[in-house]
Amino acid sequence: MPQLPVTRRAGTGSQQDQNRCAMFDVGATWIRGLVARAGENELSSVGSLTLPTPNGAHALVDGLTASLARLSDSSTRPITDVRVAMPGIISSEGVVRFAGNLNIQNFDLKAALEKATGLPCVVVNDAKAQSLALLSSDRRTFLYVSMGTGIGGALVIDGSPLIGAGYAGEVGHIQVPNGHSRVACYCGRAKCLELFASGGALERVLGQNWWTTPKPEVDNALIEAGNAVGAALDIVQVTFFLSFIHIAGHLASYEIFRGAVENALRTSPLWPVPEVAWSEDSTALTYVGLSRIQLF
Ligand SMILES: [Zn+2]
Repeated sequence: MPQLPVTRRAGTGSQQDQNRCAMFDVGATWIRGLVARAGENELSSVGSLTLPTPNGAHALVDGLTASLARLSDSSTRPITDVRVAMPGIISSEGVVRFAGNLNIQNFDLKAALEKATGLPCVVVNDAKAQSLALLSSDRRTFLYVSMGTGIGGALVIDGSPLIGAGYAGEVGHIQVPNGHSRVACYCGRAKCLELFASGGALERVLGQNWWTTPKPEVDNALIEAGNAVGAALDIVQVTFFLSFIHIAGHLASYEIFRGAVENALRTSPLWPVPEVAWSEDSTALTYVGLSRIQLF
């Protein structure tokens, strides 16, 4: 089964000290880039940038290549590799099978970037990259859920995010019992978790920038979103009985949402309740996770 090559421990050798990797966190709206030393838990940034996400595969390659040149100017040592995390279905060979928000389908982004930059590149799903940041010697099997414009995830088994047939961890497409949306998911179904609890779903219900103005219907929407996430995670939980689940994203900042999720995981006295941890921002997880991928 293909696996992401994860560094087992932070490198401290002289070669590792010399390495500078360029890392890009490609989101639906923005790309953030950073140059850092590879293999470290604490990232010391050498240079960084932010740019609007271009539309389409070739524009993305051009944007990342130009950004790499800018980051190279800020680094005193040569950049030795490029690491890209992005939403969507990404094969273990770095082929973007489907990234709806970026308008990319069946494009070998790794090969195109290597040709354009002349450097070894790795392209991974962002949630899988983020999950690598949570690995530790005593936490090697868990579920990670990333809640942004869409909902992604990674089921980490014994230190590696499960790839499966290429789609493992797509918790945003778990069918929520009792859920029914008038809008169909791009996967063609009407009960996908993403339709009830993602940033995109909440914007449809509450309007753009809903979090900036208090409205009475916000609490109800957050509780419904939490119930949907809890119901979806319960399906995973009774299959795997994980002891740890980590959920990241803006919704994690709302106590009412967190409470609804945790209550939904406590519906039976028979089953053990997993420890649930929360992060409001996944950007740091992306960079730490990307830096832990072993390329050489
Ligand atoms: Zn779906």
